[in-house]
Amino acid sequence: MWTRLIRDIAAMTTAETQPAGDALLATRLRNAQPALWINTARQTLPAAALPALGKSISLDDTKAAAARLARFAGLLAEVFPELLAADGVVESHLLPAAALQPALGMADNQGRLFIKADHSLPVAGSIKARGGMHEVLEFAERLALQHGLVEPGVDYRALATSQARAVLSRYQVAVGSTGNLGLSIGVVASVLGFKATVHMSADAKEWKKDRLRQCGVQVVEHAGDYERAVAAGRAEAAADPLCHFVDDEQSFSLLLGYSAAALHLQRQLAEQGVAVDAEHPLIVYLPCGVGGAPAGITFGLRQVLGPHVHCFFAEPVQSPCFMVQMMAGQGEHPSVYDWGLTNRTEADGLAVPRASLLAAELMRPLLSGVFTVADDTLFAQLVQVLDALGERIEPSAAAGFSGPALLTGTTAGQAWLRATGVGAALPQATHLVWTTGGLLVPDAQYQGFVQRGRAVLAARG
Ligand SMILES: *Cc1c(COP(=O)(O)O)cnc(C)c1O
Repeated sequence: MWTRLIRDIAAMTTAETQPAGDALLATRLRNAQPALWINTARQTLPAAALPALGKSISLDDTKAAAARLARFAGLLAEVFPELLAADGVVESHLLPAAALQPALGMADNQGRLFIKADHSLPVAGSIKARGGMHEVLEFAERLALQHGLVEPGVDYRALATSQARAVLSRYQVAVGSTGNLGLSIGVVASVLGFKATVHMSADAKEWKKDRLRQCGVQVVEHAGDYERAVAAGRAEAAADPLCHFVDDEQSFSLLLGYSAAALHLQRQLAEQGVAVDAEHPLIVYLPCGVGGAPAGITFGLRQVLGPHVHCFFAEPVQSPCFMVQMMAGQGEHPSVYDWGLTNRTEADGLAVPRASLLAAELMRPLLSGVFTVADDTLFAQLVQVLDALGERIEPSAAAGFSGPALLTGTTAGQAWLRATGVGAALPQATHLVWTTGGLLVPDAQYQGFVQRGRAVLAARG
């Protein structure tokens, strides 16, 4: 069934045994073939406060973001019926996924597989619920305190009243998005009473635009890619003092909202008896678009779990913006077009031509590596996740599933396993694939994904 992926990996193995490994990695990248890049600048014990874009952030900032989300939980449970049962906490399950291991080619002695199920995050249906909600709530909190609508730090349910909404309705929240960030920001902003505008790139799916319009969100369609949509939104917002622009390329609030996931995951790992130490390394595979979500989570995880958590980002072969950024020198900001790639992928949440410099700078000492995945593999693995676990994920959310086989089956991966000592501990290791979206995908769309995935699996024999 997996012969094609295994053939791809075998090709990579031969490629990377050559002495000119960097040149061959570059060739694979340019040819849109799956590739693995290892970060030699990763630090075992990075500083507690890390610089990025002229500021510096630490675990205190992650804790402040988590505390802010907690302050809003009462309000969220009131305005989103789907959050009532969870008391307003927007979180996902940590799911054991041993049943999927055979399909991924993972042998019994290569560790245990888990899924962090952000594909089922309520309200926004993707990982964007974490960062997007946090930034809108931070803006709402600032205005609410400024206008005396709430007392600092107490229950914010007063924001659900019509008086409070009338105040917030004078303000606007705007964002540029390939789809999912717009969904998250738009839904939360409009429920709080804000005017909301989402600038959508050409690759954004029709159903996402429809859903936003149904929530009263203004959707502005752009002919260009994600970068163009962001630039248009940023320019429009700059001209309006009552407009807050959520800047996916450089927002600390978004990134810290994502990072709060680490505190919750730490508790979930403890609850399931998963240790993280030298004998029990944790390897995390995170789908990457502009880089804010996986960088926020990696930042949080490295702070709370220490040196034995290893984070890898996963990108489509046509949109490896984070990989080319990490391979470039300081001061450079390459795009995937510079590499002759198209940025065309069905993984719409990851269709980004140029990485966030905030995320890239922050990841230099923290990240273990970046790998790329062909779209066909995303669809095949989406089906394998359905068949083995009964979970519905979108193509972007499948990007992490190639990770374990790349580490164990390629020369570059094996060299990394040896150099870090993770290889010796692999039988007791935990692999955690972050599944980042899917809940809101309409059934007809999802059935199309499954059909394509089954066709890929059949062709691979
Ligand atoms: C946005 C997104 C990501 C990646 O987040 P970035 O902050 O863009 O790197 C991953 N998966 C899905 C489904 C997304 O929508």
